[in-house]
Formats: sequence, structure tokens, C-alpha cells
Amino acid sequence: MDYVYGPGRNHLFVPGPVNIPEQVLRAMNRNNEDYRSPAVPALTKTLLEDVKKIFKTTSGTPFLFPTTGTGAWESALTNTLSPGDRIVSFLIGQFSLLWIDQQQRLNFKVDVIESEWGEGAKLDVLAAKLAADTDHTIKAVCIVHNETATGVTNDLSLVRRILDEYRHPALFLVDGVPSICALDFRMDDWGVDVALTGSQKALSLPTGIGIVCASPRALEASKTAKSLRVFFDWKDYLKFYNLGTYWPYTPSIQLLYGLRAALDLVFEEGLENVIARHKRLGQATRLAVEAWGLKNCTQKEEWHSDTVTAVVVPPYIDSAEIVRRAWKRYNLSLGLGLNKVAGKVFRIGHLGNLNELQLLGCLAGVEMILKDVGYPVKLGSGVAAASSYLQNNIPLIPSRI
Ligand code: PLP
Repeated sequence: MDYVYGPGRNHLFVPGPVNIPEQVLRAMNRNNEDYRSPAVPALTKTLLEDVKKIFKTTSGTPFLFPTTGTGAWESALTNTLSPGDRIVSFLIGQFSLLWIDQQQRLNFKVDVIESEWGEGAKLDVLAAKLAADTDHTIKAVCIVHNETATGVTNDLSLVRRILDEYRHPALFLVDGVPSICALDFRMDDWGVDVALTGSQKALSLPTGIGIVCASPRALEASKTAKSLRVFFDWKDYLKFYNLGTYWPYTPSIQLLYGLRAALDLVFEEGLENVIARHKRLGQATRLAVEAWGLKNCTQKEEWHSDTVTAVVVPPYIDSAEIVRRAWKRYNLSLGLGLNKVAGKVFRIGHLGNLNELQLLGCLAGVEMILKDVGYPVKLGSGVAAASSYLQNNIPLIPSRI
């Protein structure tokens, strides 16, 4: 039962938390278990092996923390850095802003490279900083792969290229919260030292697991990093990995079984097919926005996100009213504009276990709401643009061929 009832299904199109598939819900509907029995370590072992696949790493070491993306950030930073360390961080929207705030509160010296909201990371500024840093005082470069507030995706391969060009040893720390398992992400190929995600995004689980993956270099750095850490200390996990029992404290049994089911669904579809599906969902959404005559908050095509689209509304419309109406009238949940873009954009999340027809339902709802709030939209225009693209591009469902 909904806390505030609405008939039919809620159309959940916020960019996380996202829809949980039935298979995952059923897998989690189970009793607690003794996590010290042989069963839970055996299950955990498969999870640790299999999450590496979604990070595309063979050399990385994964950690499953009972936390959210914010806790995973803290784990990445405190295990690899010491107070006072100089780091470079890109501010491109609300989530990169929050990560920078955490970095500053943890006492790192942060060189903030700021962009207009809607633009990607200024990599030329990074290049200049690395070129000037011949003493290697910069200890880490931190970047949000996909900024959820503005729908901007950064090209991580370029960051790696710049680090290599200047032969700079800074650690490369990546927030992949709304990108890993939805967008192309290659931890090993791109030399990412710590990557992290949260269970409520592309994996389509409840909130509650922060997945952090550390490269061998990051593990090495953790041996000398002096930041205070207890709950998020990798060392405690590694100790229990070695013992074969895996958990330094009580895991959520239900979430572990949920993660098993979520990974099974990803592998059943095929990770590359999952990524291709997100590309289709992103492209279809952008075509609808264009057909409505509205602008994407993302300033350049190269930064377009395939997991979230932030739609700019005309100045005479409050985008928060669109979000309110969506929920009150159509049982559709859209994302609010945050901070600098509050009232100016609404967001359509298109990530996780989601298919094209679900998206078309959302787009039909958005059209009606736009009309409700006085925007002159032709009903069906966005749906037509999206569906004619999708009709030409949806492949057979991989597991049904
Ligand atoms: N990073 C990004 C890019 C996000 O979108 C979010 C949440 O939406 C977070 C970090 C924070 O994650 P959490 O809310 O799970 O702590």
C-alpha cells in the first residue's frame, strides 16, 4: 500500500532510487540468517567476484559497505588520503558540490575547478594544474562521472590521458553512483584507482549498499593514508576476506540476496546490452525534449547523460510545479531541480531496470503536465519523436532470441 495511495503503479522516474524488479523484490523477501554460517560467506564470495564485472576490473578489490553513495565517497577518500593532502576536484553540479564539501570537511586541501552548471569538467584546467605540479603535491583527482543534477557525463578516458601525459602519480577517484552498470565504465582500462556506486541507482536495489572498488595502487595507498576511519576502513574488510568470513560487522542478509538477483538480471541481459539500452533510453528522452521545443540543461552533445535528462523550462514556469503535478495528478515521480537550477529544470531519470514502453508512459505524462502548466506543447509530439526512434532501434530482448 502506498503511504499516500494512488491507483495503478507509480511511474518512478527520479534518477535514483529507481524501480526494483519483481525478481529482486522476491529474492529479498526472506528471513534473516546467521552471517557466520557457511552460507553467507559463500554467497558473499560470488558477489565480490561478480561486482568486479560491472566495474570492468580484474585487478580491483571490491567492498560492499552498508551505506549510501555518500558513505562510499567517504570510504574512497579516507582510505587513500591524509589530512592536508592536496586534491583536485571538479564542481559541475549539486552532487560534485556535496562531494567537495565532504572533501573539505575531511580536511583535504581542495583545488576546485568550477564549471557552469550544465557543462562538463574543465579538463584543460586539470592539464594546466598537473603540468605545473612538478613536485607532485596533488595526491588525487576526484571526478563525478555522471552529474545527476544537470545530466552531464564526463569522459573519464580523457582524464586518464591527461594524467598519463604529465606522468602524474595522483590517484584517480571516481564517483560512478548513477553511471556504473548503466554507462560505459572501465575501471582497469581507464586506470581508475577508486570507483564507487550505490545500490539504489543502476543496480535497481533498495538504498543501502555502497560498492567501492580499489585498484592495487589504492590499496597500497591505504597502508599509509592517515585519515581517521573506522566504519569504512578497508583494512577491517581485508582481514575478514583473508579469514574467508568476509564481514567485519553484520551485513543486511536481504540486500545481499537482492544484490545476487540484481547481478543475475544484469548478466542475463548482458552488461553491454544494458549499456546499449540506457543509450536508447537517453536518446529517446532527448528527442522528446527537442520535439517539445524545450532545452536540455546539458550544454553540449558530448556531455549528454544516458541515465538522466535535466529539462530546462521557460522562465514563466516553475519546474517544481511540474514535479508536484506529476505526482498529484498522474502518479508520476520526476526529479526536482536542485540548488542553482531549482525551479528551472525538472529531471527525468532513465536508469536501472527499465524498458522503453515504461519510458514512453513517462513522456506521455510529461506532455500532459506541460500543457497543465501552460506550456504550448502538442500532445503526442515527444512520444512520437521518441517512439519513432525506438521503433527503429529496439533489438529483440536478448534472453528471448
Ligand atoms: N553522487 C551522485 C552523482 C549522486 O547522484 C548521488 C545521489 O543521488 C550521490 C553521489 C549520493 O548518493 P547517496 O544519496 O546514496 O548518498
